[in-house]
Parts: sequence; structure tokens; C-alpha cells
Amino acid sequence: MKLDFTGKSVIVTGGTRGIGRAVASAFAGSGAKVVISGRNAETAASIAAEIDGDVHGLALDISDSASVSEFFPAAQEILGGVDVLVANAGITRDKLVMATKDDDWDDVISTNLRGTFLCAREVIRPMIKSRSGRIIAITSIIGLTGNPGQGNYAASKAGVIGFVKSLAQEVASRNITVNAVAPGMITTDMSADISEKAREAIEGRIPAGRSGTPDEVAASVMFLASEQASYITGETLRVDGGLAC
Ligand code: NDP
Repeated sequence: MKLDFTGKSVIVTGGTRGIGRAVASAFAGSGAKVVISGRNAETAASIAAEIDGDVHGLALDISDSASVSEFFPAAQEILGGVDVLVANAGITRDKLVMATKDDDWDDVISTNLRGTFLCAREVIRPMIKSRSGRIIAITSIIGLTGNPGQGNYAASKAGVIGFVKSLAQEVASRNITVNAVAPGMITTDMSADISEKAREAIEGRIPAGRSGTPDEVAASVMFLASEQASYITGETLRVDGGLAC
């Protein structure tokens, strides 16, 4: 199924690498006009220039309300609106709960959960006005299963799933869908910190027998953003090779 996003405006938070970059590249390759973000304006702009298609890069720190309120009007001015928001940016600060400092907790919750809320809130009004929209938040299977050493991350990603279900019900009558994609183990910078031994142990538990790629996550995001997914909302789609079955 070849999806066509010609004429559509897409915002991807955290598009400088990994899953966000693959998502931005997939949308741009399907005809969309895309704005990506990174915390550093120059990095965001130079990565945007590297991606084939109509892609722009702007600075955004989703843990900072002022930065979010600046970024969205600027992005929408470039794009002429917003049809799709992919709330992708996220961080980890992995530690056992007993070793987790207040800041480790607060940074992860304020980026992954509060940041997703701040970004989604910015696009609701314009989407209601245009009577259409797609919001896709990147959560994690860890938000479904939990994981030792990731209490803060699991709480943030479980929170995103609850948030998505609530917002989906608030805006469904306005032709706006809100869904989550829950990747399993995907090969990116975020998962690069894991030791070889731990990686082999995790991959040994993946029924598909391997980690996933950012492009495989991007394909599921594209589907949820497409016309073909018009009756899917409040859903969390696992992209994990069966890891969290
Ligand atoms: P990466 O670490 O490779 O990329 C993270 C992206 O988020 C970067 O573009 C970074 O941009 C951006 N970012 C980080 N913090 C902020 C912030 N405060 N404000 C704005 N942007 C920020 O991660 P992945 O691509 O692996 O992960 C993407 C999403 O997928 C995350 O939400 C993650 O939790 C989720 N996920 C990843 C999995 C994996 O195995 N990789 C598994 C399950 C979920 P910059 O540094 O340029 O600011």
C-alpha cells in the first residue's frame, strides 16, 4: 500500500535522529511538507536539509512550555497549518527505583509525558478548526509491561497511553484521531547504550528474533496518519516483533 501525503503538513518532534528522523523522511518521501525539531536549532536545520523532500528544522525543547509555545506557531506558519503531529521526542534516565534521583524522575516525566501533553495541546485548536487531524504519540512497550531499571520511563510511557485514550475521546467527533505507537527494541542511539549481553538477552525473547528498525516504526505511524486509518482512535499499536504479546 503506497500512502500519499501530498499537500499534508506534518510536525515531528525530535526528528534529528532515530525514529523521528525515519518518520520525517517517510512523510517527506510521500509528498508531505514536514517540520522536524531538535533542541539545537542548527542541528535541526542541518538534519532537515539532509532529508530528501520539503523538510524544515526548528528548535524545540518539549520540556519547556515557553519553547513549545514558540515552536508551534512558527512551524504552522512554515507549513500553512498542521494535519499530523507525531509526538516522538523522548528520553531515558534508567536506574533502579531505589537509585532514582528526583531529577531523574522529573526530567523523564516532564519530557516524555508533560512534553507530549504540551505538544498535543498546541495542535488541537487548529485541528478542530479544520475539522481534521491526526495525532500520533510514540510511547513504548515498557509503558505496557514495565521494566526493572525503567520505573520513571515506564510511568511516563504508560501515562502517554492514558493521555492518548482520553484525548481521542475528546476530539473524535471533530474528525481527529489520536493514537499511540509502542515500539519494542528498535536500533537507535537510545538503545545503543545497552550492553551487547543485555541486547542478546532481549533479542532472545523477541519472537521475531531481532530488533526492529526506525523505518518499521515509521511505517506504522504513516498508516495511523493515513485516510485508511480514519476509524482507528485511542489505540496503542505495538511494533515490537511480538516482544510484549
Ligand atoms: P533517540 O535518542 O535516537 O532520539 C531522540 C530524539 O528526541 C532526538 O531527535 C532528540 O533531539 C529528541 N529530544 C530529546 N529530548 C528532547 C526534548 N526535551 N525536546 C525536544 N526534543 C527532544 O531516540 P529514539 O529515536 O530511539 O526514540 C524516539 C522515541 O521512541 C522516544 O519517545 C522513545 O522513548 C521511543 N521509543 C524508542 C525505542 C527504542 O528502542 N529506540 C523503544 C520504544 C520507544 P535532540 O537531541 O536533537 O534535541
